[in-house]
Amino acid sequence: MGGDWTTVVDTEDVDPEDLLEHFDRAWFRGREYRHLTDARHGVERGTALVGDAVVRGFPSIPRALVLETAVPAQFDGPVTVEEKLNGYNVRVARIDGDLLAFTRRGYVCPYTTAAIEELLGPTAFFEDHPERMLCGEVVGPENPYTTHDYAEVDSVGFYVFDVRDRATGDPMAPERRRAVCAEYDLAAVPHYGTFDPAEAATAVHEVLADLDERGREGVVLKSMDGRQALKYTTSAIHRADLEHAFSLPFDYGRDFVFTRVIREAFQAVERGEDPETVRQRGRDLGESILAPAVETIRAVADDELVGESHTVRGDPAVLDALLSYFRDQGLQVEIDRDESENGDRVVEFTKVARATQDKTEYYLEGGTVDE
Ligand code: ATP
Ligand code: MG
Repeated sequence: MGGDWTTVVDTEDVDPEDLLEHFDRAWFRGREYRHLTDARHGVERGTALVGDAVVRGFPSIPRALVLETAVPAQFDGPVTVEEKLNGYNVRVARIDGDLLAFTRRGYVCPYTTAAIEELLGPTAFFEDHPERMLCGEVVGPENPYTTHDYAEVDSVGFYVFDVRDRATGDPMAPERRRAVCAEYDLAAVPHYGTFDPAEAATAVHEVLADLDERGREGVVLKSMDGRQALKYTTSAIHRADLEHAFSLPFDYGRDFVFTRVIREAFQAVERGEDPETVRQRGRDLGESILAPAVETIRAVADDELVGESHTVRGDPAVLDALLSYFRDQGLQVEIDRDESENGDRVVEFTKVARATQDKTEYYLEGGTVDE
């Protein structure tokens, strides 16, 4: 499977057969494929093998804590600044005539695949670029993974931020990619211009203040060839992440809190904030942690199930495929609403957060902690 995949994937010093052992098997529309859920031996997380095709994972993007110094350290030429949208990463490839939408961990998601088929329609992009994949962020209120709202998206949207060679992962230069998106009428992430490294940090802080005000996530800076990237995020999203994490404290709390506090602290220092501004930042940060946890504990005390709730819309068979896909992954999915609306099926469901549910019940019933 994956044809001669070892010619495009650098398998370092590992035997390709051994590496293949780390790939999981999964099925989409009756077809088997393999995918890597975690990076191994230099091969990115999310790399998938479908028939003879290799679909490379999307690389992880380093984060700056201090822009002023990180930008010149990371880039030796002009940088282009784009908005970082807060949804989920999707790679779209056409393999043997079918569009397939891969998640970050290399699963072909049945819901995303159907949504992308509908959003893209019969696009000429893959006729002209059969060896490329579109990398983008899926956002909007009707998706099964994330909940951040964007006023411009009613249901689901797909915004391209990269066009890569499917097999080697080589990126297309951002300027050319933007022209390609315009040519094929593909929605693209917003773009704020290109700057010299020396002036980029100042420009980004201005863009960021506006994004922060609008509750949006942040920016990604990229080199002109698309090979270097750097991300930086708003205080608004740090708080939103904490709110989400502490609404399910035993599932996410611990991993989120340290990283977000550090991001906030460096941001306050880089901006030279006075003591009162720092105190206000602290109050806002604290509220985003405590209030959602209190709400969740109360919900469990009222015998509610807690977890991540999502709404999805579409063909009934696609929604069935999505729910089975989640259940096959071991998730407990509870249906909150299942109705027909203008010919579509609309399902609201909750992915039950098992750790939070169980630990909260345990403590509410008098369980103790050793600390
Ligand atoms: P990883 O860094 O491994 O992807 P992560 O989930 O922590 O893990 P994020 O902090 O969300 O990653 O930042 C990287 C992700 O940002 C990308 O994988 C992509 O999905 C998303 N993204 C949104 N907008 C852009 C953009 N304009 N350019 C590149 N990536 C973007
Ligand atoms: Mg993200």
